[in-house]
Amino acid sequence: MQNSALLELGLDYLYVPLPVHPSRLETAVAGLQACGFVGFNVTIPHKQAITSLMDRLTEPAQLAGAVNTVRIEPDGTLTGTNTDIGGFVQPLVNSDWQGKTATILGNGGAALAVAIGCRQLGFEYIHVCGRDRDRLYAFCSGNPALEGVKPLLWTELDRVLPRTDLLVNTTPIGMVPTVEESPLSTENLSHLPEQATVYDLIYRPRPTRLLERATGRGLRGIDGLAMLVAQGEAALEFWLDRPAPAGIMARAVQTLN
Ligand code: NAP
Repeated sequence: MQNSALLELGLDYLYVPLPVHPSRLETAVAGLQACGFVGFNVTIPHKQAITSLMDRLTEPAQLAGAVNTVRIEPDGTLTGTNTDIGGFVQPLVNSDWQGKTATILGNGGAALAVAIGCRQLGFEYIHVCGRDRDRLYAFCSGNPALEGVKPLLWTELDRVLPRTDLLVNTTPIGMVPTVEESPLSTENLSHLPEQATVYDLIYRPRPTRLLERATGRGLRGIDGLAMLVAQGEAALEFWLDRPAPAGIMARAVQTLN
């Protein structure tokens, strides 16, 4: 997706995957600086750890306490940002969510960006649903940006589904290779109101079993591809300080299966 956009822009840059062991993160970053990289993305498990290596953080990165995109400035200093929040929000911005309720399944890294995004969209009630009480409560109390977000155990889920306007799956349940699985049963889904939207962050497969069930019930469904593309376009724009070529990344990822 990034290489398609770079080709379209006629730039002599290349986007390459570089697996890095957590113990070598600082060394790897110094290597990228030394080699003249313009910038890089950061993914699991480095998104939080890398914040301490940044010379400055943008507002979204400060809010999330996590960085997924880094720009290496001409003087070699590092600016970290977070394009996951904006990427998640992008397919939702044209609806009015003021006063509405969001329920988020999962309490990992993506759930943090999703919860902050829901706050920005104006949701009044945000529930985060986890399977481990300690991890769930640590998640909800561990970030000032999540103040007021309500922790919810899976066993309590049915209680909030009837008033959920947006349900977001941030767990890997249903992702390749466990494509037969779904975080919610058809029975669970039947508790959602008719106007509810179901947003699954997973983009392989498309659709997931969850989205298949939701749209089969007539609910609006959004898969993870729009978010993937939007965070990628925002990253490219952050590195290059120019607009990403329209539609190129979305076309490039259509082949993902
Ligand atoms: P993560 O930090 O590992 O978090 C995963 C969360 O799912 C954890 O809270 C985990 O619970 C929960 N979980 C895992 N298996 C579960 C199960 N069987 N039952 C209940 N809960 C379960 O991963 P992440 O970075 O947040 O990513 C999560 C998903 O989002 C992945 O599928 C990823 O591909 C997708 N994603 C998509 C995009 C996009 O652009 N579309 C961006 C980011 C992530 P515990 O804490 O209890 O272990």
